Amino acid sequence: MNKNNLNLLYREIIMEHSKNPRNKGLKDGLDVVHMTNPICGDDISIQVKINNDIIENVYHDGSGCAISRSACSVMSETVKGKTIREAKDIVKNYVKMTKGETFDKNIDMGDAIVYEGVANFPARFKCATIAWEGLLKALENNKLDKKE
Ligand SMILES: [Zn+2]
Repeated sequence: MNKNNLNLLYREIIMEHSKNPRNKGLKDGLDVVHMTNPICGDDISIQVKINNDIIENVYHDGSGCAISRSACSVMSETVKGKTIREAKDIVKNYVKMTKGETFDKNIDMGDAIVYEGVANFPARFKCATIAWEGLLKALENNKLDKKE
């Protein structure tokens, strides 16, 4: 597939997730991480359901641009079923990728790979990473809960 077709496909996946977000809607009984991006106006909430170190589900809600909304959906699908450690590695890799840095292509990024092109639009970096930063925060909070 040539690069233009690939970009088109990537854009379609992003638009599809923003129109039909997976795992949207918060659940009772789970901690909420709230994230905002004042630059663009993205405002999202993330919840993580963890069972024995495995991410059973991720829920999200909020408003924002197509990139941030679709990224919430893609992120939730990408890390479902992964261990906390695997998810953290994916987040780190994703941030490198969207910054345009060298990233590990051996890590299974799922549909998140479609955000590779964000590296060409630094102004959208926050939009593409806000969901993932929220996930990291939620995972950290979970660890703190366990220590108590
Ligand atoms: Zn945005």
